[in-house]
Amino acid sequence: MKDWRLFTRDSRIAYFSMEIGLSSDIPTYSGGLGVLAGDTIKSTADLKVPMVAVTLLHRKGFFRQELTAEGAQREHAVSWNPESFMERLPIKTLVTIEDRDVKIQAWLYRVKSPAGGVVPVLFLDTDIPGNLDSDRRLTDHLYGGDLEYRLKQEIILGIGGARILSTLGFDIRKYHMNEGHASFLTLELLSHNRNPEAKHLDDPNAWDLKSVSKRCVFTTHTPVEAGHDRFPYEMIEKIGPSLVPIEIIKKLGGDDMLNMTMLALNLSHYVNGVAKKHGEISQALFPGFEIHAITNGVHPFTWTSPYMVALYDRYIPGWAHEPELLVRVDNIPDEELWDAHCGAKALLFQYIEETTGQRFDPDVLTVGFARRSATYKRGDMIFTDIERLLKIGEGKLQFVFAGKSHPKDEPGKELIQKIHERVVELGGRIKVIYLQNYDMELAYKLIPGVDIWLNNPMRPREASGTSGMKAAFNGVPNFSVLDGWWIEGHIENVTGWSIGPAPTESTLVEINSEEDVRDLYQKLEDVIIPTYYGDRKKWISIMKGAIGKNAYYFNTHVMMRRYVTEAYLR
Ligand SMILES: *Cc1c(COP(=O)(O)O)cnc(C)c1O
Repeated sequence: MKDWRLFTRDSRIAYFSMEIGLSSDIPTYSGGLGVLAGDTIKSTADLKVPMVAVTLLHRKGFFRQELTAEGAQREHAVSWNPESFMERLPIKTLVTIEDRDVKIQAWLYRVKSPAGGVVPVLFLDTDIPGNLDSDRRLTDHLYGGDLEYRLKQEIILGIGGARILSTLGFDIRKYHMNEGHASFLTLELLSHNRNPEAKHLDDPNAWDLKSVSKRCVFTTHTPVEAGHDRFPYEMIEKIGPSLVPIEIIKKLGGDDMLNMTMLALNLSHYVNGVAKKHGEISQALFPGFEIHAITNGVHPFTWTSPYMVALYDRYIPGWAHEPELLVRVDNIPDEELWDAHCGAKALLFQYIEETTGQRFDPDVLTVGFARRSATYKRGDMIFTDIERLLKIGEGKLQFVFAGKSHPKDEPGKELIQKIHERVVELGGRIKVIYLQNYDMELAYKLIPGVDIWLNNPMRPREASGTSGMKAAFNGVPNFSVLDGWWIEGHIENVTGWSIGPAPTESTLVEINSEEDVRDLYQKLEDVIIPTYYGDRKKWISIMKGAIGKNAYYFNTHVMMRRYVTEAYLR
C-alpha cells in the first residue's frame, strides 16, 4: 500500500518554504522564517486544513555554532539522517539546470497533530546517483554557497517542487509562497498556461497570467529592499529557468535583474506582510500592488514550557487547540503561576550551570535576549553605558544571550564578539552569559526561563518577530522597541513595556538610538526593577497580561484561520 497516495485524494494548499523548522533534530531551518513555517504547518495539522508543504532536504543543515572564549563564531556542518525521520518516495522528477537534467527525489515527513490531522511535508533532494557530483550537493546547505548555488536551489524548490507535486498526483488548489525563494513556481505554472491561439510567445498576451495569479498567494517577510533575492539576467540565461521567454520573465521580474519578490507580486492574487506595520512598509516599497497584513504567530503547544502546559491544562482545558481561551488566564491563582514560572527558570539555570559552569541566582531579575545576530537587532545596546548599567543593575539584573550569525555576515559576528568584550568590562558585577548554538531546543528552554524578554531592533526593520510571542505563552512579558508584532501587542504596564518612541515611520529612515537607550535604562530603573522586587502582585498581573492579551491572539492557530478566510478562499 503506497499510503502517501492518501494525501492526494483531497485538493490541497501547497505551502513552499526554503526553510522549515519542525524540531531541532531536523536542522533544516536557520531562524524565524523557518520556525514560522514549522509552526504554521503544525497549526494547519491541528486545524485539519488540507495542506502539503515543500522544502529542501538540507543534508548539511544550517550550521552548529561554537563560540571561542572571545566570542568568535566557529561553524560546523551538521549531519543528520533523513532515514530516521522520513520515508523516501519512489517517484522522481526532473528540472533543467544549465541545459542538463537534474533528478529530484522527495522525502515524506508527516506532521501529526494530537487532534488527528496530518500534514505531509516533502523534502526535496538531488543526492541521487546519475546526477553530476556538483548537482548532488545542491540540496546540502541552507543559505550556503554563492549566488549561482542559490539560483539552482530556488529552481529546485520552485520548479522541482511544483513538478513533484504534480508527478505524485497532488491536486493543488492554491500555491502559498512563504517568502520569494519559491517564486519560480509561478513560471512553472505559467508554462502550462499558454493561450493556444497565441503566435508570438514573447508577447505577454500569449500567457494567461490571470489563471496563474488566481492560484498563488505570496507572503513577503523582509522590510529591507536589499533583503529581496535578485539574479542577473545573464545568470538566468546561463542556468535557467528557461520555461518562458526571457522577455516575459523581464516583464514580470524587473528590467535590470530578476527580483524574486517582483515575480511573486506580479503572479499572486493575494499578497501580505507579516504584521500591520510591515504591511505598510511593504506597500511603500512596492506601490501599485495591494499588500495586506496577516500578523505572524507561534504554535501554542510547541512553545509553552511543561510547567505552563500543566497549569493551563488544569485551569484552561482546551487552550492548546483553542488558544483564545487564554483570555481566562485570571482563573489561575497568582501563586501557582509564579511557581510554574520559577520551575521554568530553575530548569534554564540548571542547563546554564551544566553547560557553562556558571551559577545564576534564581532570585535575580533575569533578562533574555536571543535571536539571529544581525546588526539591526542591536544585541549590544544594553551595554551602551556600562557605568549606568552597573548603577541600575548591580545585584539586581542578570542576562542570558544567545544567537547565531549568518556565516557571511561579518558585522553580525563582530556583534557577538562585542558583547563578549562588554561582559569582560562588567567584571562579573552583573552576570551575563552568551549560550552557544541557539536553536529550537535552546529557545524552548531559554525563553520560558527568563523574567523579561528584551528586543531592541532598529525600527522599522523587524518585520514581525516571533520570539516575543513565545515569551507571552510562558507568561514572560516583553520589553521591546515598538516594531513588528509588538506595536499590536503592547499595552504599557499591562502586557509589558515599550522602548523608545511611538512607531511613526513608514519607510526605512535612520533612527535616533540615543532616545531608545535612554528609555531602556530609565524604564529598567524606574519601572521594571521596582515592580519586580517591590510589587510581586503587579508583576504577576503583567505576566497574566502577556498570556491573556498577547498569547491568546498572537499564535499560528489564529493566523492560519486568517490565511484560510482571507487568502486561500479568495
Ligand atoms: C523563534 C526563533 C527565532 C525568531 O526570533 P525573533 O525574535 O523573531 O528574531 C529565531 N531562532 C530560533 C531558534 C527561534 O526559535
